[in-house]
Amino acid sequence: MKKRVLITGAAGFLGSHLCDRFIKEDYHVIGMDNLITGDLKNIEHLFKLEQFEFYNHDVSKFVHVSGGLDYILHFASPASPIDYLKIPIQTLKVGSLGTHNLLGLAKEKKARIMIASTSEVYGDPLVHPQTEDYYGNVNTIGPRGVYDEAKRFQESITMAYHRFHGVETRIARIFNTYGPRMRLNDGRVIPAFIGQALRGEDLTVFGDGSQTRSFCYVDDEVEGLYRLLLSDYVEPVNIGNPDEISILDFAKEIIKLTNSDQKIVLKPLPKDDPMQRQPNIDKAKKILGWEPKVSRAEGMKKTYDYFKSLSKEELYRSEH
Ligand code: NAD
Ligand code: UDP
Repeated sequence: MKKRVLITGAAGFLGSHLCDRFIKEDYHVIGMDNLITGDLKNIEHLFKLEQFEFYNHDVSKFVHVSGGLDYILHFASPASPIDYLKIPIQTLKVGSLGTHNLLGLAKEKKARIMIASTSEVYGDPLVHPQTEDYYGNVNTIGPRGVYDEAKRFQESITMAYHRFHGVETRIARIFNTYGPRMRLNDGRVIPAFIGQALRGEDLTVFGDGSQTRSFCYVDDEVEGLYRLLLSDYVEPVNIGNPDEISILDFAKEIIKLTNSDQKIVLKPLPKDDPMQRQPNIDKAKKILGWEPKVSRAEGMKKTYDYFKSLSKEELYRSEH
């Protein structure tokens, strides 16, 4: 009998790569998604497989799955700032009510559950690089608060289910991850810059571009998540790539990579945009024996190849 895993957010960027990984490891994979920010195209290659099932369902409503479950990975949630600004209430609901539903399901099925938390729980961090014992600096009522606080609540309710009900839980604090299947128009910096370069538009750097991020290639991220799920470690673990770069330097790198002669234009910095972000991954190294292997140059080349393969129609499709 194959082990059975439920993956929420299966039609999204990370969820679809997780589905691929668990199929490869010979699990029976049940994908669930309401397609609010995802795309069935990301998992259409799995539909022909007997070991894959898909439920079109909003996990903020009661979740039912027939049969047993060994693992649940709760990855459903809008994840890009423009998405969660557009759908703030759904974002709060999927992080809170959705997580509650999935913890209840994990309890009923005696399944182990891993939740997709985020570096955003650190807010605009006053500690650098961020270690898991830093409590964070989040503006609860700011525009990003809907995402950050939903994720902070998600961690709290997950620990409560672990402590009070004995549910086996894992908490991944995921830092900026990138790769093929990111949505071209999701507003995150990598699809934004590559899309602009491909359309011959100027690259829009927010603020003066001195804010930093540390980007992790999706294959590395999935490996870290897989190891965390199978580990016996209950407290949050940072999973990300510590290779930090300013957004201005990153824009210059993309201009080189895409061999374009686009200009950089400065636009206002969105409210509460974190000024620096870099994971301390000592815990992941020690507990999971994991660290990222794919350099930014290699990962960005693969990502650029993916975006180049999209049709003209996709490239020019506007969501705004
Ligand atoms: P994504 O938008 O590509 O995927 C999210 C998926 O969840 C989409 O397919 C969407 O349709 C689905 N979804 C949203 N609300 C739902 C609901 N109520 N019911 C069912 N499905 C729902 O985003 P992603 O980058 O793949 O992120 C996946 C998860 O990882 C999210 O929980 C996000 O917070 C977390 N995360 C991602 C990153 C990153 O850099 N990609 C960083 C930190 C945390
Ligand atoms: N950013 C930018 N131009 C864009 C999109 C994003 O300069 O067109 C900046 C954004 O302000 C932030 C960084 O790039 O400082 C990363 O943004 P993203 O939305 O990818 O992720 P997050 O802010 O959630 O880390």
